[in-house]
Amino acid sequence: MIEAFQGLVELSQVDTELAAHERERAEIPAKRAACAEERARIEAQREAARAAIGEAELVQRQSESLARDKQALLQKLESQQHQVKSNAAYTVLLHEMEQAREAISDAETKILEAMEVIEQSRASAASLDREAAGISARLEERERALDERESAAAGEIARLRARREDVARKLDAVILARYERIAGRRSPAVAVVSREICLGCRVDIPPQRYIEILKGEEVITCEYCHRILIHQDQLRHSAAS
Ligand SMILES: [Zn+2]
Repeated sequence: MIEAFQGLVELSQVDTELAAHERERAEIPAKRAACAEERARIEAQREAARAAIGEAELVQRQSESLARDKQALLQKLESQQHQVKSNAAYTVLLHEMEQAREAISDAETKILEAMEVIEQSRASAASLDREAAGISARLEERERALDERESAAAGEIARLRARREDVARKLDAVILARYERIAGRRSPAVAVVSREICLGCRVDIPPQRYIEILKGEEVITCEYCHRILIHQDQLRHSAAS
């Protein structure tokens, strides 16, 4: 029976370790997705800065072109000043000249505003580019570490599964089936008993049951947490043997 207890304790330890590595491996895809998200967020910011520059440059070019056209129109109108024959025609001409001057002034304001936007956007694009280089290097490093952790976890899982098979094979089929049923609901499935207390749930073990456990003749479970109970002394004994 001591051998079975030893097997159960080992199986329980292997299962606990296995569960930890499986949990770690399961968390990796989300961590990798977080890296991809951060990379996309920085890229979107850089793209927005580049788009702002492009938009402002377009406004600048259009306004410069408009200002040139209106400047040419104004010169043409000015040259007509001495050719007008009537007061009414002169008033119309003056009005048209005024409109051209206003259009030139508006275009010049827009050019200045666009130039300011371009300057600010270029500065923020440059700082984002610098930031992005650092972030990208950090993300790559994080992803490499995740790859390493994933393959390390996979290696440990494979090793522990093989170990588990070895331990399980040596156990009595009925005892193993009982263990598997409990392990499906409780982790760990085995609890150590110390000073008449189940260390799995911290509840006192009734005297009669405690005597049965000390005898070590059969597998006893905790009536509260349903874990397989193994006395500390049997554990020491099994560890020594
Ligand atoms: Zn218990």
